Amino acid sequence: MTLPWRVGTVVSLYLATVVGGALLVAGWYGASGTGDVGAQLVWLNVAALGLIVAGTGNVVWLLYGHRSVRARQRALVARGMELAAPPRRPTASPTSTTPTALRVAIHGGARFHRPTCPLVVGKRTTARIGTKRIPCEACRP
Ligand SMILES: [Zn+2]
Repeated sequence: MTLPWRVGTVVSLYLATVVGGALLVAGWYGASGTGDVGAQLVWLNVAALGLIVAGTGNVVWLLYGHRSVRARQRALVARGMELAAPPRRPTASPTSTTPTALRVAIHGGARFHRPTCPLVVGKRTTARIGTKRIPCEACRP
């Protein structure tokens, strides 16, 4: 199993956290050594910059991880759809599929699906999907 982050992203997170933490400690240390409010504000700005650097590094790291997990999730759903699909028959007649059977919905459900979607296979469905239902995120009809 591989990590959802590349090495460069992890190094960026590490650098942002170390630099941000160093700026935060420097701001605290600089502000603690003086009673001058003007000088303390300068060090406060240094500490705030440290928070921004560390926070940005962490947010970017989380966004990369989120994007990677979503890509894996889509690949997994696509693989599941392949496995759940009925075997293809080379001699299938084109009249066997009617336009109304391309999308189905479960009574009371908010989404419409492909008939082969694992979320509806084996369940009682209707071809009347109406206009208020949204497409399923798993089978993307
Ligand atoms: Zn579906």
